[in-house]
Amino acid sequence: MINFNLPPVVGDEEEYIRDAIQMRKICGDGKYTRLCSQWIEEQTGANKVLLTTSCTHALEMAALLLDIKEGDEVIMPSYTFVSTADAFIMRGAKAVFVDIRPDTMNIDEKLIESAITERTKAVVPVHYAGVSCEMDTINNIAHKYGLKVVEDAAQGIMSTYKGRALGTLGDYGCYSFHETKNLSMGEGGALLISDKNNNERAEIIREKGTNRSKFFRGEIDKYTWVSLGSSYLPSELNAAYLYAQLLKAQDVYNDRMQSWHLYYEMLKPLSEKGLIELPKVPDGCVHNAHMFYIKTMNLEERTRLIYYLRSNGIGAVFHYIPLHSAPAGIKYGRFVGKDNYTTKESERLLRLPIYYGLKREQVEFICEKIGRFYM
Ligand SMILES: *Cc1c(COP(=O)(O)O)cnc(C)c1O
Repeated sequence: MINFNLPPVVGDEEEYIRDAIQMRKICGDGKYTRLCSQWIEEQTGANKVLLTTSCTHALEMAALLLDIKEGDEVIMPSYTFVSTADAFIMRGAKAVFVDIRPDTMNIDEKLIESAITERTKAVVPVHYAGVSCEMDTINNIAHKYGLKVVEDAAQGIMSTYKGRALGTLGDYGCYSFHETKNLSMGEGGALLISDKNNNERAEIIREKGTNRSKFFRGEIDKYTWVSLGSSYLPSELNAAYLYAQLLKAQDVYNDRMQSWHLYYEMLKPLSEKGLIELPKVPDGCVHNAHMFYIKTMNLEERTRLIYYLRSNGIGAVFHYIPLHSAPAGIKYGRFVGKDNYTTKESERLLRLPIYYGLKREQVEFICEKIGRFYM
């Protein structure tokens, strides 16, 4: 059986976790949390990075930082994971969905302006498959209308847009280190903050509404409850796991990239015959091989191909059911404009196995089976 995904293990995780245990420091914000945040700050150039318990929680923090309230509207694609919407809806906002671009499956930047009302507070671009949204256009629109931009960069670590790291292009960026992502800590994430004036508020929100982070840095002599907050800091045990991964991030990246390019080359003949479509990466975008997907003709063909691959021991899977068609999406959101691509393209998309350690022969085997299916 070739799994669709296996959580990344680089080999040094146990050593770092053991170190955290021996230091008798396993709650949050110790040595490993610091090392991880510093690594991400250096790698991305972000002004500040706070490690969080998940990307969902990083998004929730962003919603709190933006002071999202009852009646506010937040523009996002419908083709995304539930957390993109949940985080804002939990603060009372309405999710305003717009259509995606069929080439990248990302929000269609040209449709954002027509979805803006006087209630709109933010735009949440999702960088699907670690391929960037058209951020210059999105930032220009946000600037013109005084909106904030929160990047759902859950899949985007080590990807860039015009040379800049995903997650550093908007006001806030959110990473995920869930076990299904390129780099992991089991469950976890990070909030990237672009304006240093927001650093302190973010620390307070992450520490149950207290200024405890300042206290630990010795900047104040006691800490107090100063605002609304929750507990968004991960354990040192998780951070130690992540630190081991970050030190091997380039190996993980190269390994996934090799599989990605091998898929691309081997499946090219099928795409040239017009039987399937391959992923497209726009100029200026460098991705991170988070995902390899193909598009079949339609839902029926995809269902047959999934079944065929499964019967050959290959874990190929579809992805998001558009949020606007889900019960919570109907209740808490609305779709603006026409659904030209969201539903249609989501029904054709099929993700192939890709993970750190996937072997060349396995990719070859998968491509050979796909070729056979279309013979
Ligand atoms: C994985 C993912 C999330 C959620 O990440 P968690 O760390 O599991 O909370 C959110 N948005 C997108 C686009 C994702 O792929």
